[in-house]
This record gives sequence, C-alpha cells and structure tokens, in this order.
Amino acid sequence: MKKSAHWIQKTHLFRRDEYECSACALRTDRPFKVCPNCGLPMKGSKYDPSWVDEMEAIDAILDD
Ligand SMILES: [Zn+2]
Repeated sequence: MKKSAHWIQKTHLFRRDEYECSACALRTDRPFKVCPNCGLPMKGSKYDPSWVDEMEAIDAILDD
C-alpha cells in the first residue's frame, strides 16, 4: 500500500495560514499536491485552529 499524508492547516491571528505535513512536519504557505520535502502524496488538509489558542493567550495578557 502506498503511503500518503495530509496537510494540517494552521491558521493564525496575525500571520498568514501555514500548512504542516502530517508525515515530516514540513511547514509551507500553500498546500502542494505532493510534499516537497518527503514526497508523499497529499490527501487534502485538516483544519487546526491555532488562532483560538493565540486568542486565549491575548485574553490572559489583557486580564492582568
Ligand atoms: Zn512531508
């Protein structure tokens, strides 16, 4: 069976989205069809709302 991976989409509050390879953890700014680092074919992407954590960090600062 041929291996495949997927992009984990990382959204940020103050930076543009990133895509992280689920196999090799390469981060790029766009979802390629094939990972340019490990060469595995990509099966779509998974949404990972990192900005929620970043928002909570800001709330913690503002509460101080
Ligand atoms: Zn990869």
